[in-house]
Amino acid sequence: MIQITMPLGFLGTVYREIRQALVDMGDMFELLHQPAEITDVPGAPDLRVTGGEVVLDDVRFAYDASRPILKGISLTVPAGQTVALVGPSGSGKSTIGKLLFRFYDVTGGAIRIDGQDIRGVTQKSLHDAIGVVPQDTVLFNDTIRYNIGYGRAGATDDEIIAAARAAKIHDFILSLPEGYDTTVGERGLKLSGGEKQRVGIARTVLKNPPILLLDEATSALDTQTERDIQESLNAMGRGRTVITIAHRLSTVADADMIVVLERGEIVEQGRHEDLLARRGRYAAMWARQSAEDPAEEPPAGKPVGQ
Ligand code: ADP
Ligand code: MG
Repeated sequence: MIQITMPLGFLGTVYREIRQALVDMGDMFELLHQPAEITDVPGAPDLRVTGGEVVLDDVRFAYDASRPILKGISLTVPAGQTVALVGPSGSGKSTIGKLLFRFYDVTGGAIRIDGQDIRGVTQKSLHDAIGVVPQDTVLFNDTIRYNIGYGRAGATDDEIIAAARAAKIHDFILSLPEGYDTTVGERGLKLSGGEKQRVGIARTVLKNPPILLLDEATSALDTQTERDIQESLNAMGRGRTVITIAHRLSTVADADMIVVLERGEIVEQGRHEDLLARRGRYAAMWARQSAEDPAEEPPAGKPVGQ
């Protein structure tokens, strides 16, 4: 029995790792590739980003016509500001991100960036304008230089190093046996969740997009790593329009505006202090999270972001 269970247990672990890797890749491809039905209109111009204002105008959406997911979302994210989307799982937060990236088209209303309906511009220019930091960054079996440089084709070594510094991973890279030439990924040095996240941030810094979409970017990390990464994310967000989707409210208390979604509708919006004072949905969510993990509560009203 023992002779059989041991190899099987080992195979189970390998299987889980492979399956997880495929899931991670799937998430990334979901964001990077378009389904066939989304196409550029003939002669579509490129998106011209002037400031990076994002407007959702009565946005409605359903994956399947019988079940509406977003039921009329109106929201303006002024250029250079940070808006946090919060709400229970399944409330439609990630769907808003997918619509902004035009992975799907809205079924009603419109999304406009600097006044241009995103359905009327080339997808290439739209994707160039939006940086996505996913929950789980996919690493290629290649050098760490390659893995960061992937953020923008043709980036120079100096630019890659500057991006690594901004993501606070440069010192770590220098401590590796072969520095920027160290092979990482499954067949090389395995990076921790926090280190992979920093590679993802460095890639996005290199891409230098005016608009950032962060979907629960720090949810896979422990509290201390999350705080460190949050600093890198805050630094990256300066001067850009940021839409951040958060699970832990402590990471969004500094946002210029917090929007609470429930079942595809906005039920509250305002700044952290205003929402706490209102003693509504957000205040209840905040009280619940503070009770679950009192160490999570940040100093109230710390100004970060601009
Ligand atoms: P959140 O990010 O707030 O947890 P999502 O936007 O991921 O919520 O999901 C909102 C709703 O849409 C959920 O009910 C979810 O099951 C559904 N949903 C998400 N993605 C798909 C999809 N690809 N096909 C069908 N339904 C989906
Ligand atoms: Mg989500």
